[in-house]
Amino acid sequence: MNDPIQNFIEMVRAKNAGEPEFLQAVSEVAEYIVPYVEEHPRYKKGKILERIVEPERVIIFRVPWVDDQGEIQVNRGFRVQMNSAIGPYKGGLRFHPSVNLSVLKFLAFEQIFKNSLTGLPMGGGKGGSDFDPKGKSDNEIMRFCQSFMTELYRHVGDDIDVPAGDIGVGKREIGYLFGQYKRITGTFNGVLTGKSYEWGGSLIRPEATGYGLVYFVEEMLKMQDDTLLGKKILISGSGNVAQFAAEKCIQHGAKVLTMSDSNGFVYDPSGIDQEKLEFIKDLKNNRRGRIQEYAAHYGCEYFADEKPWKIKCDIALPNATQNELDGIDAEVLISNGCFCVAEGANMPCTPEAVATFKKKGILYAPGKAANAGGVAVSGLEMSQNSLRYSWSRTKVDNKLKEIMSDIHELCVKYGKDEHGHVNYEKGANIGGFVKVAEAMLAQGVV
Ligand code: GLU
Repeated sequence: MNDPIQNFIEMVRAKNAGEPEFLQAVSEVAEYIVPYVEEHPRYKKGKILERIVEPERVIIFRVPWVDDQGEIQVNRGFRVQMNSAIGPYKGGLRFHPSVNLSVLKFLAFEQIFKNSLTGLPMGGGKGGSDFDPKGKSDNEIMRFCQSFMTELYRHVGDDIDVPAGDIGVGKREIGYLFGQYKRITGTFNGVLTGKSYEWGGSLIRPEATGYGLVYFVEEMLKMQDDTLLGKKILISGSGNVAQFAAEKCIQHGAKVLTMSDSNGFVYDPSGIDQEKLEFIKDLKNNRRGRIQEYAAHYGCEYFADEKPWKIKCDIALPNATQNELDGIDAEVLISNGCFCVAEGANMPCTPEAVATFKKKGILYAPGKAANAGGVAVSGLEMSQNSLRYSWSRTKVDNKLKEIMSDIHELCVKYGKDEHGHVNYEKGANIGGFVKVAEAMLAQGVV
């Protein structure tokens, strides 16, 4: 086989058997990075590709805890420290039954490029557990988090590795994890981001991924002389990212038609407004309820076990989880008039879906660019912690806007072809890669 892209993917496949998500993420990057490296012999000679797909370190550990019935439970904990060329490892923790090494390696790999794109000094990492927070009491969550941190504390630190939230890990979990870290080490520092404002968190961090996603979409539209005003939006998910993406869409005059959870989606043809969104926030954040309640409360349609992609729209924002939008969904979306897809979740579109977007020439922004606002504000939280200072909402929000606009500019720089069409996937991958590759070369064979 003489195709360098395929050769590289085969090498990664052989070394990482049984890790489909990781291979998927690497394949997507390889399509653009391998040819780029072929054109830049320095990177080739430095074996940057071979090194970047190998985690610097993977920590796997037992997480024993006692449930409310007094039974001992055992989960598996992970931290993948993927790349520290440009800064301490940085990336969220995911608590979900689907968590395994492949999922976390894919997420940690994506994080290298995403964090680099933010322009802030953060390396790539990710962690989590196969623990399922669904249906657990507050006390069980606390005991689990304490046990998780009782091992993790020795591998993290504000200049070493700075975890944050992801699916299943929000402000409550970050609080319990931080409390245990502080108790064991006796230090109060910025070891985690996503902290509450009262004890070192940053304003706008809860909103950052969703707001940043919408700021990025606005940059994409601006290049087409278009705006969000009056656009029909499909949102999947109803967690942190989805809630604040919806909020910003509403603020900017767009009409949000759907939101979902793992049981189904609601379709509100009159649009989810701010008041209805507050109902969803309360439902999800305080009552930990299902989205079906929204349909019952506002008398609109609920589709059990379905995804929202069949509803007619202009823009789709998949904000739930990986591989939630496949090739068939992509065909349906486009035939219904959708002209822009931006990923609030990590790798929510399958390779077939992405190929369809490209074939049909619609605007498509990969998560590593479009959802980088979350980790960007985490980076700003780290800066504020180091300064022992707190910035105002306006200051952080303006910085977030600036960062999303800079990421968009990088995507255009590396992704624009001779006809002026921007391939955001190419732009994000190469734009994120260059800085890391340069740092790896400069730091020698490590
Ligand atoms: N989990 C988020 C992401 O996928 C945020 C990570 C962070 O803030 O460190 O980027």
